[in-house]
Amino acid sequence: MKIAFIGLGNMGGGMAANLVKAGHEVHAFDLSPDALARARDNRCQTYTSVREAVQGAEAVVSMLPNGAIVDSVYGADVIGQTPTSALLLDCSTIDVDTARKVEAAARAAGYAMVDAPVSGGIAAANGGTLTFMVGGSAEAFARAEPILAAMGKAVIHAGVSGAGQAAKICNNMILGATMIATCEAFAMADKLGLDLQTFFDISSKASGQSWSMTSYCPVPGVGPQSPADNGYQGGFAAALMLKDLKLAMEAAQGAGAQVPMGQRAEELYARFAEAGNGGLDFSAIIKTL
Ligand code: NAD
Repeated sequence: MKIAFIGLGNMGGGMAANLVKAGHEVHAFDLSPDALARARDNRCQTYTSVREAVQGAEAVVSMLPNGAIVDSVYGADVIGQTPTSALLLDCSTIDVDTARKVEAAARAAGYAMVDAPVSGGIAAANGGTLTFMVGGSAEAFARAEPILAAMGKAVIHAGVSGAGQAAKICNNMILGATMIATCEAFAMADKLGLDLQTFFDISSKASGQSWSMTSYCPVPGVGPQSPADNGYQGGFAAALMLKDLKLAMEAAQGAGAQVPMGQRAEELYARFAEAGNGGLDFSAIIKTL
């Protein structure tokens, strides 16, 4: 299949490479010359504009930083430029309202479009083990599934347009809050004189267990290998966690949802990022507790 891929950054670069490995012809574009060079190394054909990359495409996949950019790229250079038979898949993490607005504009112009944000970081993007949560019609999902399956281990239909983004921010709101709760508990266990490996052995098999503890323990040398064992480098940047929590707070306000724990997590990650820690893995917030 001829697939245009827009946004070849930390995540998109590996995803585009996996589409090539699956036998697709990938027509790639990014504003960054370095990203384009890496895409060429991964056997993508590169172009000098979005419009050129989407010519004659059967599908367009995007992995971009935010909703404003997704809106402008689709509005100016995808809708009306690529054949209406092309399926449009936006995998960026953006706000639900913009996802729905872009899909409505695409549908009005005759396209099928899905929002398909991902869970899993750069390693999962490179390894083809992302989880996709997909919003869109049943027909659009059926067309999207085989394309996304080439880049992930799970592709789940979340519901109508925007439902993928809704699932993503609700999931990451849990993640932000449970990470802080886990960090607090380890910091307090330490102050109470508990051995932290012993506390892990107990709590990871008891009701305090969570992904933040058992798969991503914030304490160096405890639990499986995690960014804590690497000076909190790599992993999922605190700045990206803050981005997702801000999207969650916006969505909560729009929907009239009460989210006191999510709100507190957003405040704490904002403070952490303002102190210059946005580039550290989000589990590094344990240093402040
Ligand atoms: P990134 O900044 O590394 O990549 C974004 C790329 O988009 C950059 O290469 C940039 O040059 C390009 N770009 C920006 N504007 C463009 C335009 N107008 N046209 C073409 N290219 C343009 O970001 P990333 O880490 O790859 O994240 C991408 C998306 O994935 C974000 O929405 C992020 O929230 C989401 N996400 C990231 C992670 C992660 O761990 N990094 C995990 C899950 C989801």
